[in-house]
Amino acid sequence: MNKQTFEQNDLFYTKNIVDPLFNNIWLIGSKKTKNAILLDAPPDINNIKKFLINNNQWNINSIFITHNHYDHIDGLKDIISFLNKEIIIWIGINDSNKLKELKINPKYIKYYENSKQYKLNQTIIQFISTPGHTPGSTCILIEDNLFSGDTLFPGGPGRTQDSKSFKILIDNIEKKLLNLSEHIIVHPGHGDDTTIKNSLNEFQIFKSKNLNIDNLSGNITWQ
Ligand SMILES: [Zn+2]
Repeated sequence: MNKQTFEQNDLFYTKNIVDPLFNNIWLIGSKKTKNAILLDAPPDINNIKKFLINNNQWNINSIFITHNHYDHIDGLKDIISFLNKEIIIWIGINDSNKLKELKINPKYIKYYENSKQYKLNQTIIQFISTPGHTPGSTCILIEDNLFSGDTLFPGGPGRTQDSKSFKILIDNIEKKLLNLSEHIIVHPGHGDDTTIKNSLNEFQIFKSKNLNIDNLSGNITWQ
């Protein structure tokens, strides 16, 4: 658990932890074609540059954004200009306004909702829309790995602004994430991994408390 680098079938996965909030940035590539994607774009270009230079055998052609909070997206312009090539940006449509602010050319933007999946060589990457932490939050499922952004962490869900968002978030987590195979590893946007099995156990404890979720929001833990 919590390996920085691992492989599964054709894919190579490597993580770096960068500023501003111990953000996890991932590079995932096909060993066969060398085509690769980046997951999230924190505004820490110095550390990300080092990470990309250390991994310069990979041909990155897309960046997948889990959601539009500054610590996951504000590095986009710098990363694209460092890579110095055409990069497709993938984002949830309801989080995409931020790309206008960042002056990303609309020609290079794709919405998860319009595609449902992506293929990295032969491996299917699935998009799971999980609004709540932000309206366009999306989890990315690749083989046995769920990249959960700020939607699901060990011990609890991501932060919510109000109880309406909290209800939506909990509903998405329960119906779209916790029904995945128990052995799937959950890689959040910050901090350590967990598994669907662990999250399911924690969630059942939360459920058994029978809390009135109409009043819950902010930083909630399962236990
Ligand atoms: Zn966030």
